Amino acid sequence: MRIIDFRSDTVTKPTPAMRRAMAEAEVGDDVYGEDPTINRLEALTADMLGTEAAIFATSGTQSNLLALLSHCERGDEYIVGQQAHTYKYEGGGGAVFGSIQPQPIEAEPDGTLDLQKVERVIKPADIHFARTRLLCLENTHNGKVLPVAYHQQAAEFAKKHGLSLHLDGARIFNAAVNLQIDVREIAQHTDSISVCLSKGLGAPVGSVLCGPADLIHKARRWRKLLGGGMRQAGILAAAGIVALTQHVDRLVEDHANAALLMQELAAINEIDIHPSSGQTNMVFIRLTSRSHDELAAYLKARNILISPRDPIRLVTHLDITTKDIHTFVAVVKDFLATN
Ligand SMILES: *Cc1c(COP(=O)(O)O)cnc(C)c1O
Repeated sequence: MRIIDFRSDTVTKPTPAMRRAMAEAEVGDDVYGEDPTINRLEALTADMLGTEAAIFATSGTQSNLLALLSHCERGDEYIVGQQAHTYKYEGGGGAVFGSIQPQPIEAEPDGTLDLQKVERVIKPADIHFARTRLLCLENTHNGKVLPVAYHQQAAEFAKKHGLSLHLDGARIFNAAVNLQIDVREIAQHTDSISVCLSKGLGAPVGSVLCGPADLIHKARRWRKLLGGGMRQAGILAAAGIVALTQHVDRLVEDHANAALLMQELAAINEIDIHPSSGQTNMVFIRLTSRSHDELAAYLKARNILISPRDPIRLVTHLDITTKDIHTFVAVVKDFLATN
């Protein structure tokens, strides 16, 4: 029985082309730097992002942590969004492993961090304070695309204040596709950027941290310490190469499906659409008079999965078709017609 899964774009299964590439991948010991497929993935990602170097990591959480540990020393601080993945959803890894203090601030409705607010929390050089060292942004943030002009301002701001700038670009290709620009136009305004292969791009595992060679060299040491020094991991990288070469342009389909989903749901009285919906592959909804848990149970009984949070986040991806959108909307209407 086929399941239609709107919970996340992490749920995709590797395509037949990926499985073939994995089966046929040339491999070696990557801790010795001898896995040709890993080396190819790292070179490809660095080239696509326009950075000097790149390192394959086990997950987005690991690549963001590698960035924190490589930019900051013990007693340093990074400024980050209150709802940012690197702050809220990564177990406080910077503090746990690096003695790096986060300084969270509330993001603006468009997903940016107001640079005047950032400026106010930068700490002066004083023995009382942690050393503010890094600014950490996220694009896309809850499906929202940050403007390129903002990235440029943030880069100038960081430079002026002697901060490095890391971008959590788990879904950066969704942003680039939405803006119809080369992803390098965003990446050029960062000192490091992490990219997830296992979200909308559809690979089973992995993330890549991109940046200057000296930073990536430090990250390679940290990755070993964190237990991320894998051996014949070219089998995983092979899927990542398929993701980067075959699944970037098709993200427009996910965005079109999300836009369609938003449009169809907006026409239903009992549903409120959150304004940050529909820019990329996410739609956020709220039922005005029915319980989200009840909706989730009704859908589940019909092989459709959602996370009944508030608001409900619906994510389109490689394994969701336009027909699935229509199926989903029809089942939601059936649910609302029941009492
Ligand atoms: C998913 C995600 C990550 C990384 O998560 P992993 O599950 O560790 O791969 C990082 N940042 C954002 C914004 C994400 O959505």
